[in-house]
Amino acid sequence: LPSKLPDVGTSIFSVMSQLAAECGAINLAQGFPDYDPPQALTEALARHARTAGHHQYAPMPGLPRLREAISHKTAAVYGVPAPDPTTEITVTSGATEALYAVLAAVVRPGDEVLVLEPAYDLYGPAIRLQGGVPVYVPLRVPEFTPDWDLVQAALTPRTRLVMINTPHNPSGAVLTLQDLTTLAGLLADTDAFLLSDEVYEHMVFDGQQHASALQVPALAERSFVLSSFGKTYHATGWKVGYCIAPPLLTAEVRRVHQFVTFAVSTPAQHALADVLLEPEQYATLPAFYQHKRDLFGELMAGSRFELLPTPGSYFQLARYQSISSEGDVAFAQRLTRESGVAVIPVSAFYHDGLDHGLIRFCFAKRDDTLALAAERLSQI
Ligand code: PMP
Ligand code: GLN
Repeated sequence: LPSKLPDVGTSIFSVMSQLAAECGAINLAQGFPDYDPPQALTEALARHARTAGHHQYAPMPGLPRLREAISHKTAAVYGVPAPDPTTEITVTSGATEALYAVLAAVVRPGDEVLVLEPAYDLYGPAIRLQGGVPVYVPLRVPEFTPDWDLVQAALTPRTRLVMINTPHNPSGAVLTLQDLTTLAGLLADTDAFLLSDEVYEHMVFDGQQHASALQVPALAERSFVLSSFGKTYHATGWKVGYCIAPPLLTAEVRRVHQFVTFAVSTPAQHALADVLLEPEQYATLPAFYQHKRDLFGELMAGSRFELLPTPGSYFQLARYQSISSEGDVAFAQRLTRESGVAVIPVSAFYHDGLDHGLIRFCFAKRDDTLALAAERLSQI
């Protein structure tokens, strides 16, 4: 069978998690917490699982009460007009399905899609599956901030979509409102849409605030803004996310969504609707993860890894050149096998495997897990 993605192997996240399991290594590779969601959420799930009537298909765009809660929360957090739950919010099977649905909805064969690299590994292949042409613009290294002149130079009349991700996976870099305003200026004379992947929206540190594309009206009117309950509620396995977009764009996303998953897990949506109006979880998340970032930094201070600044997300990049001159893939594999700590090589986030000699740690782990990992990492 001629493959539609002949050059794509197994996702680095599966590869490194499998290697971690085989080696009994601590998994700081794939991004997921080793702790459970807040009790209020798991109890709500149990309640809804036991409640008759919450086991059948949810409405295609998402449970109305969850979409209403998303609308309220979005308005409260970002000080923007509440998105209309009926016409502007779609609940998806994780941000992953939202990404796929947006790309399938807007990208036509030959359309260019601008991607800032390094980028989450699904962006390029998902664009190509639609016949789109990814146009890669490198972020500055090591800050991983955009050079907007390069973005401007990459825009053409065929640019259908621009994709951004803030806070950024894998670097943790965050865009500012000024960045988003600059981008709005660049897009003003184009017909391009914006996909703003904001799944780490509640992991921004040092008193800085997350800047959402929803807060810049000139962007919001052409944007698909994505988030994920998996990140915010320590529930990556629930696979519930959402897309906020103006009515005409939402209608197109739903045309695809209805034929991909149709609807998302009903009891999970009910449980999330129960807790979302209570700000406790997302309001305390920045401090929760800032503590973990700082703890990991302190624990690693005696190691030979050089940690890069991490203003957001639950990822930490590091250089390892004082330990080894290996390429990042070889080093990540050896670290997993010999030191018992699995990490992700950052070259996996470049379409051409560009290797800056960087690895990514996920610090969404219990403090004792981080301590044990850092102890092992300090011995090499
Ligand atoms: N975008 C980015 C940048 C991510 O890191 C992730 C997490 N894997 C996703 C999207 C997908 O989110 P979800 O787990 O909700 O599908
Ligand atoms: N987003 C997670 C990460 O970057 C992994 C998601 C996945 O395994 N597909 O590690």
